Amino acid sequence: MKDLFVKDTPLHIDNEIELLGWVETKRDHKKIIFLDIRDRTGIVQVVGDTRLADVSTEDVVKITGKVKKRPERLINPKIVTGEIEIEMTNIEIISKAAPLPIPIDTDGYEIDEEARFKYRYLDLRRARMTRNLVLRSQTLMFIRNFLTKKSFIEVETPILTKTTPEGARDFLVPSRLKKGQFYALPQSPQQYKQLLMVAGIERYFQIARCFRDEDPRKDRAYGEFTQLDIEMSFVTQEDIMSLTEDLFTSMVKELFPDKKISQTPWPRLSHSEVMKKYGTDKPDLRKDTNDPSELAFSWTIDFPLFTEQSDEDFYHGSGKAKFAPSHHMFTAPHPDDVTLLETDPMKVRGQQHDLILNGFEVGGGSIRIHDSKIQTKVFDLIGFSKDQQKQFAHMLEAFSYGVPPHGGIAPGIDRLLMALLGEPSVRELIAFPASSGGKIAVMDGPSKATDEQLAELGIRTIEVDN
Ligand code: ASP
Repeated sequence: MKDLFVKDTPLHIDNEIELLGWVETKRDHKKIIFLDIRDRTGIVQVVGDTRLADVSTEDVVKITGKVKKRPERLINPKIVTGEIEIEMTNIEIISKAAPLPIPIDTDGYEIDEEARFKYRYLDLRRARMTRNLVLRSQTLMFIRNFLTKKSFIEVETPILTKTTPEGARDFLVPSRLKKGQFYALPQSPQQYKQLLMVAGIERYFQIARCFRDEDPRKDRAYGEFTQLDIEMSFVTQEDIMSLTEDLFTSMVKELFPDKKISQTPWPRLSHSEVMKKYGTDKPDLRKDTNDPSELAFSWTIDFPLFTEQSDEDFYHGSGKAKFAPSHHMFTAPHPDDVTLLETDPMKVRGQQHDLILNGFEVGGGSIRIHDSKIQTKVFDLIGFSKDQQKQFAHMLEAFSYGVPPHGGIAPGIDRLLMALLGEPSVRELIAFPASSGGKIAVMDGPSKATDEQLAELGIRTIEVDN
């Protein structure tokens, strides 16, 4: 393992060091040749001689040399190593690089996305993308530390599971052991996290991968995304909102110090108020939308529990019911509105809270139903047949063995970071995203299965034009 990163070279003035990395640039003055050597942490200038003649950019090299302080007039304040340079004593070319198919010394927005995804391992070499991955890693680490200190525990839930009907289309995975049957990839760990509350875990979180077969948009990756999934027992909406506020306020302060949260405490606006005033449930409350440092967080609350069901709702088999859940079918009605479930369901308010940042919905959650009778009523209203309700028998049974009142939230990591950094797409925050056509980065997927694989699964396919 190498023990010296480029950013730390200035700590070794007048020492002999060994530098491992890529050649970012080469400036050939015949007898003297300059290289900039890059690693994940930055670049540093190397001064060498004709032994560098065969080196080309993006070669992987090992340089030995002495760290020298630069004369005052040659200091480059733009790079972290600008006060020093390395006087080369030796060079070893570890691996030659062919000319790159895409430039990596720009911010990359100008390059066609398909080319960037095909060569994602090169695209990620650019400083902006490396920075995004570093910030994402720091964000996850911050969240884990923050919640662990508050007595949360991280629990993993299955990826091969049964559908969690949250309003999107499922990805199905054929079962080999039970031919003709399918697992579904989780749209979120919603049911599992509620079952963990029945299990007495009380404070759960997970950096959870969620899978939804929805059409891509700029604020939504195709296929999969990552959520910070949180669930707590014995809580109110107030508790959930203040925990979230506390978490992200301290995270911004520590990891994104040049960003300014424009209003604290974060405004809480009722759904009806926000629709009347802004015509959307995710208002952009920034005072100046040209200011990249401004972060306007807000909450939208008091959503109606139901919306009119549309053809695109996947909650139901029949498509004939009038109501669809605004959030999902486990969201509890406002306690004052429970009787309206019988008389006027569209007037019932749900205990739902959406987290908004700069006009993007970056998270949503709710207090859950923990009373089987109310849950059954909601199933009825959204048009579940008795057979469909049987699919949730495990939830209702679990609730019969002593269930704490519970609730939670799930901020989307990709989308939160997109809004926070002002990136134009969530795909700028994901190492290997799928393209808008659903093609996975670098590898040529999806692809056909072999006849042997299909036979083992008991599946026959038909030829279609894609
Ligand atoms: N499971 C929900 C979602 O993915 C979040 C929640 O209700 O906690 O939107």
